[in-house]
Amino acid sequence: MSRIEMKTPIVEMDGDEMTRILWQLIKDELLTPFIDLKTEYYDLGLKNRDETNDRVTVDSAEATKRLGVAVKCATITPNAARVEEYKLKEMWKSPNGTIRAILDGTVFRTPISVKGITPNVRTWEKPITIARHAYGDVYKATEMKVPGPGKAYLLFEGEDGEVKKELIHDFKSAGILQGQHNLIPSIESFARSCFTYALDMKEDLWFAAKDTISKQYDHTFKDIFQEIFDAEYKAKFEEAGITYFYTLIDDAVARVMKGKGGFIWACKNYDGDVMSDMISSAAGSLAMMTSVLVSPAGIYEYEAAHGTVQRHYYKHLAGEETSTNSIATIFAWTGALRKRGELDNLPELSAFADRLEKASLSVIESGRMTKDLALLTELENPVVLNSQDFIKAIRAELEK
Ligand code: NAP
Ligand code: MG
Repeated sequence: MSRIEMKTPIVEMDGDEMTRILWQLIKDELLTPFIDLKTEYYDLGLKNRDETNDRVTVDSAEATKRLGVAVKCATITPNAARVEEYKLKEMWKSPNGTIRAILDGTVFRTPISVKGITPNVRTWEKPITIARHAYGDVYKATEMKVPGPGKAYLLFEGEDGEVKKELIHDFKSAGILQGQHNLIPSIESFARSCFTYALDMKEDLWFAAKDTISKQYDHTFKDIFQEIFDAEYKAKFEEAGITYFYTLIDDAVARVMKGKGGFIWACKNYDGDVMSDMISSAAGSLAMMTSVLVSPAGIYEYEAAHGTVQRHYYKHLAGEETSTNSIATIFAWTGALRKRGELDNLPELSAFADRLEKASLSVIESGRMTKDLALLTELENPVVLNSQDFIKAIRAELEK
């Protein structure tokens, strides 16, 4: 059988622990036998990040800007225990944080639906994608405990000498204070990423905040979305037959619970944090969730939503059998391959990505799955496969 040709390489960011093991298995069993796989390889494993003083992370993000599409394996974000375990020179920053800072994007997370694992919300027929703004608000806030009576102000001193001062509260008792901020360029790129992604997915886009209460802060988010939509995306949305609308966050929650799914829900940072956990738990498992970082310039980095599955890795090192779910990592690869196929006009490559996804889900639907799913499924007597055999079963399905 001749293998599918590629034109432009995909940026390949290898990672750590159990997901690194799955990564190699996926390439050997599911990709290279079928595709003449072209990648530009960056080893983001913790050892190599330490050896290169984390230069490799920056290089991989720069390569993504150049080539347009990346696929990333889960990586360790070092803490004190990891500094000791890997004898690190420094407690290197989260690679995802570094990459996000360079590509400047929004993270989109979508549950992977499969027959036999039904979402807890009965009306959901299609997955709901959460688009979470990843900058500012309560995550970059300054807080203070107010010891007793006194006045608190919001104070801005412009570089040009302009001063703005607003009374927050005339305290008659002890209290608490919080100062939040966000940045117009960051909100603009959040909006553009959401509109670009909606067009890509051909799905409606909702944006929800609380502008009735927050008349300057949330209202600015609402206005920026609307201005950018009207000026740059309205005609494209009409052509694609999709819609954009803004609604209050409480109205959005009510509609989501009664809706059929199949749309993108853009959320401010905190709302996105909370709502993405709601959507993913209602859908079942972290290992059944895709995650993609989309930059406003139309650059894509695909990854799994979960971590390196450390506990399973230690079992693997001890020679014990593991049953780690590789679906999210497989779907990171298929996302990247499909996008590469679209950009390079290689329909065969995109079609292969579709087939691989279908084969992966067929194996689960046939009752063969990893342990995490066996605990969730409504299918009777599921067969639990180990990490390797699950991937081999997908290969057999693919070859059919
Ligand atoms: P984790 O790797 O997501 O695993 C947490 C638990 O979830 C696992 O112990 C396992 O439960 C279950 N799980 C997650 N993925 C699974 C899969 N594919 N198949 C089966 N079960 C799965 O999170 P963590 O243990 O908190 O973090 C481990 C490392 O990952 C950390 O060093 C962290 O820094 C890193 N991390 C990286 C990323 C990223 O690169 N995107 C994201 C998050 C965390 P059981 O053990 O009960 O089976
Ligand atoms: Mg959270």
